[in-house]
Amino acid sequence: MIVEPKVKGFICTTAHPEGCRESVRRQIAYCKEKGLVKGPKKVLVIGASTGYGLASRIAAAYGYGAATIGVSFEKEAKGKRTATAGWYNTKAFEQFASEDGYYAKSFNGDGFSKEMKEQVIETIRSDWGQVEMVVYSMAAPRRTLADGTAVSSVLKTVGEAFTNKTIDLRTNEITEVTVPVADEEEIANTIKVMGGEDWEEWIRALAEAGVLADNAVTMAYSYIGPVVTHPIYKDGSIGQAKKHLYDTSVKLTEEFADRGLQAYISVNKALVTQSSAAIPIVPLYISLVYKVMKEKGLHEGCIEQMYRLFTEKLPGRETDAEGRIRLDDWELREEVQSEIAGVWDSITTENIQKYGDIDGYWEDFYHMFGFRYDNVDYGADVEI
Ligand code: NAD
Repeated sequence: MIVEPKVKGFICTTAHPEGCRESVRRQIAYCKEKGLVKGPKKVLVIGASTGYGLASRIAAAYGYGAATIGVSFEKEAKGKRTATAGWYNTKAFEQFASEDGYYAKSFNGDGFSKEMKEQVIETIRSDWGQVEMVVYSMAAPRRTLADGTAVSSVLKTVGEAFTNKTIDLRTNEITEVTVPVADEEEIANTIKVMGGEDWEEWIRALAEAGVLADNAVTMAYSYIGPVVTHPIYKDGSIGQAKKHLYDTSVKLTEEFADRGLQAYISVNKALVTQSSAAIPIVPLYISLVYKVMKEKGLHEGCIEQMYRLFTEKLPGRETDAEGRIRLDDWELREEVQSEIAGVWDSITTENIQKYGDIDGYWEDFYHMFGFRYDNVDYGADVEI
């Protein structure tokens, strides 16, 4: 079948198997060129199929030489419908890893569920004995709780509504958006979905089953960003969930101190992923930050960020005063942020190409779904 991109707003409903493979191949090639460092050899990644989680899995395998187990929630191909990008990415990763002699097993299903935790624990027990590192990189719009009820996360503000510029991803036009206020229930639900509860349940389940190694490391990812995005991100409903995630890291480190567990939050850079594309205002900010960081030679994608995290920040236990790892250090540099703040108010549809890296935004967007790689033949028939 010939697979073409079908973009609807901030999502692409098709994915290209060969292109996704190319995306994984390039990320692996980046790590291979940089080389291996000493690190954990048995790594579990929850949310391992796209974005930061996929890059974490690749950095673990090709930065530490680790065996990996990945958990994700992706759709297989059905009839003429392609699989999701994460499904193809996972298949490609397993194949490359096996060719290179690395153990890689993947589970597709609901990471929030008890059943998934049990399956993964059994596999760790039989194949590894214990796991040395757990990366929690799940980004989900909803969660089904143990009693069967489903709760959804929202991307809203807390306290008062917020109006600012955004980019309409259908037309590349600069428009205004008013982000509404989340009510108490929406905030509580967002914390349930994107906060630390499920991360804690994973760690607790692994520890109780006796498959969490002494002195293990666990990490979850967060975002802070510049003041202009604070009302929608850091101080918004998602930010409340991220506060909970941070509190969970402190709680886990304290509670499992006798086993030497270290739980970290890594604050990462804003990048185009399937999750970030859905947040109002953030894609416009991303296009500006890409432009400035590329010009200054500071730009990184998911794999550059994760390789730096795994091989520099984590081995050095380099944290801020609150104990968080700061991979947003380059993004938040004064020289970067002052340029963005200086142009933000004057951005219009007419000048966005000058101030923002719209082409870079879309390049990353299409790449996420396996499209627009110059060395992939999109005219060729592919098995989906
Ligand atoms: P993503 O959408 O690319 O990845 C989400 C992953 O979660 C996928 O592997 C998906 O399959 C998995 N997943 C979703 N629901 C699941 C479920 N029910 N069970 C199992 N797996 C499930 O997102 P991302 O942007 O890489 O986000 C990962 C983390 O990084 C999030 O915590 C996010 O807040 C954080 N982060 C993102 C950015 C950014 O700019 N993208 C910046 C800083 C921090």
